[in-house]
Parts: sequence; C-alpha cells; structure tokens
Amino acid sequence: MTTETATCIPTERHLELGALEAAVAELESRPMSQFRTVRSPAADLRRRADELGAEELSQRTVLLLAGVLLREGRTGEGGQLAHQVRAWAESNNASFLLARAHRTLSLFFHQVGDFSDALTHALQSVALLDEDVPPGIRARHLLTLSVALEDSGSPMDGERRAREALMLAADARDHETMILVLNNLAYSAYQLRDASSARALVEQMREIQARTGQRFSANECDTLARVEMLGGRYAEVEELLIPVLDERVVANEGDAVAECLLTLAEARRRDGRYGAAQEALDAAGRLCSDRELAAIGARVREEQAALFAATGRFAEAYEEHRAFSAASAALYSVQREARARALQAVFEANEARRASEHFREMAHRDALTGLHNRRYANERVPDLLAEATSCRRALSLAIIDLDHFKRINDTLSHATGDTVLQNVAELLVEAAGPGIAARMGGEEFLLVFPGVDAEEASLRCERLRLRIRAHGWEPITGPLHVTTSIGVTTTTDGRITFSALLSQADQNLYAAKRSGRDRVVAG
Ligand code: GH3
Ligand code: MG
Ligand code: MG
Repeated sequence: MTTETATCIPTERHLELGALEAAVAELESRPMSQFRTVRSPAADLRRRADELGAEELSQRTVLLLAGVLLREGRTGEGGQLAHQVRAWAESNNASFLLARAHRTLSLFFHQVGDFSDALTHALQSVALLDEDVPPGIRARHLLTLSVALEDSGSPMDGERRAREALMLAADARDHETMILVLNNLAYSAYQLRDASSARALVEQMREIQARTGQRFSANECDTLARVEMLGGRYAEVEELLIPVLDERVVANEGDAVAECLLTLAEARRRDGRYGAAQEALDAAGRLCSDRELAAIGARVREEQAALFAATGRFAEAYEEHRAFSAASAALYSVQREARARALQAVFEANEARRASEHFREMAHRDALTGLHNRRYANERVPDLLAEATSCRRALSLAIIDLDHFKRINDTLSHATGDTVLQNVAELLVEAAGPGIAARMGGEEFLLVFPGVDAEEASLRCERLRLRIRAHGWEPITGPLHVTTSIGVTTTTDGRITFSALLSQADQNLYAAKRSGRDRVVAG
C-alpha cells in the first residue's frame, strides 16, 4: 500500500510537470507580435509551478512576464524581474534560462539607453546558447546582439550578426524574425543616409509581407516612414504612422510609439508644419518620461532644438542643444564600454568556429528547398560508393524530374512553381530516409539509397511517385496535376564512378519521359 502511494504520487507530479513545461515552452515560442496574449497564461502557469515546487519553471514564467512588461513600456518593473531571474539562473546553473535572461536584460538596457550594458548582456545571451538550440531562437539572440553592437558604435559587426540572424531565420522559416532583421538593416542604411540600400531592404520586407501575410509592427512602420522621409515624401510618412498612434498597428516594443512620434515630429518640421511638429514632439516627450526611455528622450531634446531653430527661436534652440548633449553624454560610460569590448573579444573566438560550421552547412544546401545541393552530392556520393565497396553492399540512386513543369510556371506563376518544388522536396526527404535527398538544379532531384538493392529501390521510387501524384496539390496548382518521372539504377558493389551511375539513371529517366511520363524506369 505504502509503496504504491510512493510510486503513484511522483508519477502524477511528473505528468503534471511535463504538461506545465510544454505550456511554458509554448508561451516562450509565441511570436513577438502576440506578446499581449502571454501575460495571463504566464501568471497562471507561475502559480501552478509554485504549487508544485518547480522552481525553474516558475522562473521561466517570471522571465516571460518581464518581457511583457518591457514591451508594454513598464521598463523599470520589467528590468527588475529580469534581473531577479538572471540571479536565480546563475546560482542554479540553468544555462538556457540564463541566456534568455541576458537577452531580456539587453532589451532593458537598450530601452533605458545604457548601450554598453546592453552589449554586455547581448554577448552573454549568445555565448550561453547550446549548440543544438533551434535556429529561430539563435536568430533572435543574434538580432539582439546586432542591435547592441550598432548602438554601441560597431555598425560593421552589427551588420554581420544581422546577416547571420537573417540566414538562420530563413532556415527556420521564421518570417517575423526575418522581417525584424531586415527592418534593422534598413534602419541602419537610413542612418547612413544610404537611400538605395534602405529602399532595397524595405522591398524585401514588403515581399515577405506579401508572401506570408505577416503584418508590420510599429517599429517596422517607423523604419518605412524614415525611408520615405529621406526621399521627402512627407504625406507617406503620415500615412504610415497615424495607424500606430490610433493603435491599429501593434507596438511590440516599449519604445516604439515614442520613436514613431519623434519621426512624425521630424517629418512635419521638414515639411514646414511647425505647430503639428511640436504636438508630436510633446507627445513623444511625455511618453519618454512616463516610460523611462532615456535614449529617445535625449533625441527628443535634439529634435526640439532643431524645431526651435527652424522657427527662429535660436536662444531656446541653443539651450535645448546643450541639454541634449548633456543627456547623451550621460548615456555613455568609458569603463563599461571597455568591459564590454573585453567580453566581446573572448566571445568572438568561440563564435568564429560556430559561424564557420554554419556557413559550411549553408554552402551545401539549396536555398529554395533546404535540400542538399549538387555540390554536396559531388562530395558525398564518392565516399558512399567507397563504403559500399568496403562493406560489400549495394547502393541505389534515382533521378526525379517533374513532368511538364514549365506548364505550372507558365499557366500559374513562377512563385507557384517554387511552392511546388518546396512541397516535392518535403516528400523527397521522407523518401530518402537516412539516405540523401538533393536538388541537382531546376526541377531535377537526386535520391541516394546506401545499402538498398535494385528491387527495394524500385519499390521505394514507385511509392514516391504515387505519393507525389496523390499529394494535396489542389490548393496550390488548382486543376494542374503534379507528376514525376523517375530513373533508377543500382550498383551491387560500389565499383563505379558517381558520374557513370548518374548517366545510367539519366538514361532511364529519359526512357520514362519518352514512354509517357509519370512512371519509374529501373535496371
Ligand atoms: P518534362 O516533362 O519534359 O520534364 O517537361 P518540363 O517542362 O518539366 O521540362 P523543361 O526542362 O522543359 O522545363 C523545366 C522548367 O523548370 C523550366 C524552368 O523555367 C523551370 N525552373 C527551373 N528552375 C526553377 C525554379 O527554381 N523555380 C521555378 N518556379 N521554375 C524553375
Ligand atoms: Mg521536367
Ligand atoms: Mg528537367
């Protein structure tokens, strides 16, 4: 009886903990644009975690709440909670939680305008990530680091990190993060007054938006508005930013609305609408003091000086400019800057290795489908053939070519063609199992089956052909069918070159096409 109870209670607790962990992880992975939906479930989960005595889970929910507070502009409260979580994670060796806490702290210090501390925390937040953390999460941490590097005067390093983050986010198909990264790159280009790069980056943002329906947030509208302002298109600036003030656009970051107001003020001043400019600037100033936004607060004073000067009030302009200089000088500290740089040097050494592995992997992948590419096949298949010889086993290989693919491009669109290729790629990955699935170019793919004999290879390819045919194409291609022709070949002992094997498979593929398509030819 006692033994039963003893084994029963921990099991139930264990189950409950598992469910709780899953619920917390789900909140952690929610897109940033949904941050408002996090607060109340996080508070509930925190209560349950505390009841169960699950300390780490409880801390994770506290960090979620800290993030929400920062994004709402309750900067001080958010920073304080993040600080507590960091201390707990440090003394309990909870490295992933610690990495996340550092990232939240970096956002906090960015918001209050302490750029060297923002950099210190951003560096830790990337350095503490495990090798196997999902690419989407690494992308977000790198993005925070990129912003911190830019803020603290290292735009080149910042851009490099942003490009890395962009690739990882693309890998993870994380469109929100892709737009965030492009947004930051566009804003930097704007700051350098590089209108053509800025416009090209904005185009990329719009392209992803059109393709995915991902909506722009306040920060992104602000960047678009600043790029319009560069070109003197002030009516467009208003059109982009008024929806932010009406709260028709979500502001995911605590300082986004203040930033938008500042942009409006500047555009209106340049447009000669001084009264309206002053209105926007006053609203920005109020928000900065309510929300403790020192960095934007300093820029509000700078803009006030420009506005006074524009209206001929030069004495007041001079006073404001002095106040701006004092406020921005207070944001820097030489000592902290030096500490951040030292930390960065250690960090760069570790990161260089990781980045080179990542770039190597990217060089072996096809960008559209994520499959391996021809280069990878050229490097890898000869090794597999040598293994087949030394282990005395077979190796089969198939070339898969889509039938009448040009019709899809021509009748529908190139973009639809791309989607078809991506769908086929997923089916190929399934079919390859532990073997290789590669895109050889265009609408032609390769499968390599190590250790698989001729009969089994034909069976697998036939199954694949039927699977592709029966895939749910209707929503993508409407009435057009998607079918494939497949040429298969096998070596029983690996004593043949890759190119000879390819050419056998190619002849079989040609035979399949000639005899009517949508079939497998082997032998
Ligand atoms: P067949 O049944 O004889 O193979 O006819 P097909 O139309 O599939 O073959 P063809 O080789 O004549 O045309 C292949 C087409 O694939 C032409 C090219 O425009 C298209 N294509 C190549 N790469 C891409 C790509 O990355 N995306 C899209 N959408 N189309 C591509
Ligand atoms: Mg074809
Ligand atoms: Mg072809």
